Amino acid sequence: MSQRERGGYLRKIPKVDELLSTEEVKRLLRSHPKEVVLEGIRRGLERLRQDILHTERLDDLKDETFPISHLLPLFEEEIAGQVSPHLKRAINATGVVVHTNLGRSPLSERTLRHLVEVSRGYSNLEYDLSQGERRSRYVHVEEILLRLSGAEAALVVNNNAGAVLLTLNTLAAGSEVVVSRGELVEIGGAFRIPDVMARSGAVLKEVGTTNRTHLRDYEEVIGENTTLLLKVHTSNYRVVGFTSEVTLEELVQLGKKYDIPVMNDLGSGCFIDLSRYGLEKEPTVQEALKAGADVVTFSGDKLLGGPQAGIILGKKELIDRIKVNPLNRALRIDKLTLAALESTLICYLSEEEVVKEIPTLRMLTTTLEQLRKRARSLERLLKRETEGAEIEVIRENSQVGGGALPLQDLPTWALGIKPQRASVEALEVGLRNQNPPVIARIANDQLILDLRTIQDDEFKAIAQGIAQALKKASD
Ligand SMILES: *Cc1c(COP(=O)(O)O)cnc(C)c1O
Repeated sequence: MSQRERGGYLRKIPKVDELLSTEEVKRLLRSHPKEVVLEGIRRGLERLRQDILHTERLDDLKDETFPISHLLPLFEEEIAGQVSPHLKRAINATGVVVHTNLGRSPLSERTLRHLVEVSRGYSNLEYDLSQGERRSRYVHVEEILLRLSGAEAALVVNNNAGAVLLTLNTLAAGSEVVVSRGELVEIGGAFRIPDVMARSGAVLKEVGTTNRTHLRDYEEVIGENTTLLLKVHTSNYRVVGFTSEVTLEELVQLGKKYDIPVMNDLGSGCFIDLSRYGLEKEPTVQEALKAGADVVTFSGDKLLGGPQAGIILGKKELIDRIKVNPLNRALRIDKLTLAALESTLICYLSEEEVVKEIPTLRMLTTTLEQLRKRARSLERLLKRETEGAEIEVIRENSQVGGGALPLQDLPTWALGIKPQRASVEALEVGLRNQNPPVIARIANDQLILDLRTIQDDEFKAIAQGIAQALKKASD
């Protein structure tokens, strides 16, 4: 298209003042604040301007493009974009269960009810109802944490990174903490043990090598200035081959010998033994405490399946010191999180129920047979409600995610979708721009929808999303 033609079309764009006097815009002004409508019109016209400047196809532009009736949907879209929340529900079809970018752990129904109930009005957050006086907010989860874990004392903070920082700062600022070189982990989002250590004011004393660390390596560096032995769970990787690591039990023995406490950062702490459900063995929180760890830290929203939180359990004398660290106030857990954490923990009182009730555990323990049935039923729905794609039920692999069980082989059933008149990439983009967005991945030139992370009540939205995305992608 020539510059002159483009200029001609640009001049056809109506002026804001003209638009304001139309019935359509007056209607918009009755249901939205003036500022929002004006901004919506400005953004809508700007999009039109950009289209005119960049379109290659002249026949995309017609005189009919410019009347208000045609522009209205554009304005409505730009208005909706301003007044609807940016943070919204998304459908996770990736098969990565604890997906950090998609919010890690969906919450259980019981947890959601509690959240709404506690936040709708006031609550007894820091108020002792029997005495009628102020009380710590932590009591709501302390008792149940001790009951589930067998620990002497408990504290919860904003997240596990905070829990590690706070614990190191309290117990070891200005002194040395011994860690194996095989455990200097980096977790996605720039959490690195050496960096957190530096920020806490503790001095990192690395021992051993990447693949092999022995008890004598720890013992050799213990000196006047050593105040903590730290064991970090290598959540998101494994060192395999010619390896040797010191067990928590051995480290505890060594700690006892020199009267130095042992801390265990479990990362993705879990209260139930997942190997009972055919998953790899992850050390449980109870086992770490039983092995004699003086302090254990882990996340609330990884395998635990609750809200973002950092949980610190251990010896009362140490936890009491951590509680009074001023940094604790800066890492304080908020009431919404506290409510969600408490009801998540209540689910754990029954192991039989918890694997059904907590979505993260339910997804991890779903049987292949259930996944296959659900894949068939989604396949039937999609074949009925969409056109323009080949759809088949296929065997795939899911992932635990969230830096847990990195080597876990998690076979699953999925749908493989291949559009007939569009590229699979266009379908992927189209789907993640639906409302709600559906996040899926591409493999072997198919769009993969993994049933493990898709909930039953999301089938309808997926079918609608795919129908629309296919239509749009093949237009
Ligand atoms: C995930 C993880 C953390 C950080 O926990 P957040 O809850 O994400 O702050 C710390 N240490 C280990 C070993 C982890 O796996």
